[in-house]
Amino acid sequence: MRAAVIEKPYVVEFKDVAPPVITRNDEVLIKVAVTGICGSEIHAYHGTHPFRIPPVISGHEMTGVVVETGKEVQSVAIGDRVTVEPQYGCGLCRYCKVGDYHLCPRKKVLGTQEWTGSFGEYIVVPEHTVIRLPEGVSFEQGALIEPLAVGVHAVRQAKVGLGDKVAVLGAGPIGLALMLAAKASGATRTFITDVSDYNLEIAAKLGSTYTINPLKENPVEFIRNSTNGDGVDVAFLAIGLEPVLNDALKVVKKGGKVSEVALFGSHPKVEISFVQNREISVIGSNMYTRSDFEIAAEAIAAGIFDTGLLISKILPIHQAREAMELVDKKTENVIKVLLTYA
Ligand SMILES: [Zn+2]
Ligand SMILES: [Zn+2]
Repeated sequence: MRAAVIEKPYVVEFKDVAPPVITRNDEVLIKVAVTGICGSEIHAYHGTHPFRIPPVISGHEMTGVVVETGKEVQSVAIGDRVTVEPQYGCGLCRYCKVGDYHLCPRKKVLGTQEWTGSFGEYIVVPEHTVIRLPEGVSFEQGALIEPLAVGVHAVRQAKVGLGDKVAVLGAGPIGLALMLAAKASGATRTFITDVSDYNLEIAAKLGSTYTINPLKENPVEFIRNSTNGDGVDVAFLAIGLEPVLNDALKVVKKGGKVSEVALFGSHPKVEISFVQNREISVIGSNMYTRSDFEIAAEAIAAGIFDTGLLISKILPIHQAREAMELVDKKTENVIKVLLTYA
């Protein structure tokens, strides 16, 4: 099969490799149609990701068609248009037993050395990870379900509700997903920050009430001034930088919530006295579970999540290296770059 392999840091090779095969009765073979490039793949490309370690066939934001099923597979059939929740737990630990398999210490993640990802033309996945694409959702749109599910999970966890004021710090794909999910959950005012005017422009088009470029104005002052000095109900951290984390603690109202969704490469210094003094709750959010995935898929089908503005560029799989460079170096303005096997 055709595959874009991250051979070692900064080296992506497009080549022919042996496809994965079904070895268990509950497995499904999928021919990948479209795969997105995620920030975590860029970390893998840099050789800095904790478990996407080269040489690896990465890729976990995908859609495709079922081409073969194991003997016991019942819920999907050959020809189904699908996406995959790219994780599953051991099924035995205390987390798995209560449905929190995304916290399983032995969970497997698609696009690692132990589970070949969608930068290869075929993937083999357990039946229970497969989700049929709702009618009317294209392969390209469906590739956005995974990053949108990250936003859905964090917003549901933070219990954003009707009338809430919400700040999202960082307007990359996950920040935009958080903003969309917060609005869909009833947030009446959203503030989103980013140093890229292009990303802020997209955020405004997607309906954010306010956009703030921290290079031009102080987000803490802006958000406080716009909320009678109180701050927002919930702040989401969608970029892993120390000053942004400390801003998050300063833009929530007393008794408010800070949801940490970002990956930090370092150990930030936190102004923890804000948490104590202002009775702030800090919530961690890690990926999603199946219900978040299903909600994201339905919200795309219903037009609540407009993927058109999120998809910046679609390139053929043999240009994976150029695509990775583009996402990494931002040589042009992009939100989400997709790769296609067509
Ligand atoms: Zn991802
Ligand atoms: Zn487990």
